[in-house]
Amino acid sequence: RSVGKGTQAQLLVTRFGIPQISTGDLLRQHRRNRTELGMIADDLMRQGQLVPDDLVNKMVAVRLCEPDTAAGYILDGFPRTLAQAEWLDAFTPECGSLPPTVAIEIRVDEALLLRRITGRRTCPVCNHIYNVYFNPPKEDEICDREGTKLVQRADDTEEAFHKRMQVYRAQTLPVVPHYQSTGRFRSVEGDGSAETVAAAILMALQELRAEFPVPILSSPSGVR
Ligand code: AMP
Repeated sequence: RSVGKGTQAQLLVTRFGIPQISTGDLLRQHRRNRTELGMIADDLMRQGQLVPDDLVNKMVAVRLCEPDTAAGYILDGFPRTLAQAEWLDAFTPECGSLPPTVAIEIRVDEALLLRRITGRRTCPVCNHIYNVYFNPPKEDEICDREGTKLVQRADDTEEAFHKRMQVYRAQTLPVVPHYQSTGRFRSVEGDGSAETVAAAILMALQELRAEFPVPILSSPSGVR
């Protein structure tokens, strides 16, 4: 079973042809490129702590101005704090305007989540995500497509998991009532097959977009 937000975001990418903006992936990229942000993020991520809001917001602001976001985008792992959600609500990019953000929560049982996280393996070449318990590769620890050895993320240990859960409860959970209060929120059950979860997300998205339509795209200053 592969019901994580990353996997679900990838399905939406295929379905709608819009990009996935994963703050976790962007931060890991910074870390690989040894940028200043990557260096700051490294220790925090390893410990399961959040990277400071202003740094993450700035990174998202830059990414949202890339031309591929014109028809929409999926934010994956962002906003993760109330301050990030409020920043996003108030944010007007220099390159145009943003449609109202809608939020979808995927609920998962904590014991299941632990196995999903400690069992997770990724192909370093094609980024395909496997799980040794729920969705193993044909050959142990080897990518089906690339034949490369799979890797485990440094923060996918049990210790970091417990820290991340603690951080989630304290810092990310307040984001839920924030979106609930605006109505731009749905919660779906994540304890099912990837297809079942995807179907629930699509239904939630349709409902949300009926209520909060995306304005017809224009190119204000000919930027896009
Ligand atoms: P993820 O790949 O979404 O599980 O994120 C991995 C790690 O990157 C998190 O545990 C945080 O340390 C960091 N991170 C990702 N997104 C954010 C965010 N929106 N705000 C702060 N830190 C983040």
